[in-house]
Amino acid sequence: MSGTGTLTAGKIRGYFEVPGTEVAIPYTDVRGAADGPTLLLSGGVHGGEYPGIAAAIEIASRLDPQELHGRVIVLHLTNPPAFWGKMQYWNPLDGKNLNRCFPGDPLGSASERMAARVIEVLREANYWIDLHGGDIHEELVPFTIFSDRGSEQVRSTTEAMARAYGIPRIIRSSSVAGGSYAAAAELGIPAILPESGQVGQLDPAAQAIHVQGVLDVLHLLGFLEGDPTPHAASTLYTRFVWSRAAQRGFWRAKVHPGDMMRPGDVGGILHDAYGDLLEEVRAAEGGEVLFTASSFAIGEDDPLFAVAAP
Ligand SMILES: [Zn+2]
Repeated sequence: MSGTGTLTAGKIRGYFEVPGTEVAIPYTDVRGAADGPTLLLSGGVHGGEYPGIAAAIEIASRLDPQELHGRVIVLHLTNPPAFWGKMQYWNPLDGKNLNRCFPGDPLGSASERMAARVIEVLREANYWIDLHGGDIHEELVPFTIFSDRGSEQVRSTTEAMARAYGIPRIIRSSSVAGGSYAAAAELGIPAILPESGQVGQLDPAAQAIHVQGVLDVLHLLGFLEGDPTPHAASTLYTRFVWSRAAQRGFWRAKVHPGDMMRPGDVGGILHDAYGDLLEEVRAAEGGEVLFTASSFAIGEDDPLFAVAAP
């Protein structure tokens, strides 16, 4: 555990500059009056997932150093080029998805350099909460995803964080390569990726889910005194199967987040510019739909919907 030691309690605001780019990530470093571990909180790895960005800003504002045991480093907006470019997933500087670039490369493309800078900050931390949601063209019901990797202690702490966050669906996933929580697991750092919000809306209710979740995890881990809010037990999913477009087309979803699907059920269709059917897209596995693409325009290999199952 890295404590705050002799650091003065208070809040430091600044920018983490990303060498070799014009990118500067706004942060608040909240240093508690009492000793304790360090947690990294990031919003806006995806620039169109607004409630997570707003929640990071709110947490940085609300945390009181006098009440904090340890240190919370908040990245308010981790991917400024994507945010200001109003991009879903993609960083306009290099066309890459930042959440497929971890642990990054300090000599790589812009996104790879940004990922490496975030990991440099993460190395000062003992825990990571990476706030996400449905992107500009994604409908979504809230869920929290985390890695199945790491030591028994890392895995049990990670699952306890996911349960304390309070979203009723949690997914223990064999990690996506380049994802934030996978990179953290490789470093032995418990990390969760909660998703709340959808379709480019700054929804206060979705923001509140993130804020309450972060506070509950801070209580669980001893950063704040008192217990997390009691929640009904979350449903644990271990299968998370994405269906993607085999070709470019006009997308019409037939299912929505929260719907149940059986294997082979049609999740939607792709048609061409004349309305002629290109493809019926079917579920490879049954389960609960957690997100669907809401965009009419779909490119080859774009995600269309995802189903989670025990
Ligand atoms: Zn995201």
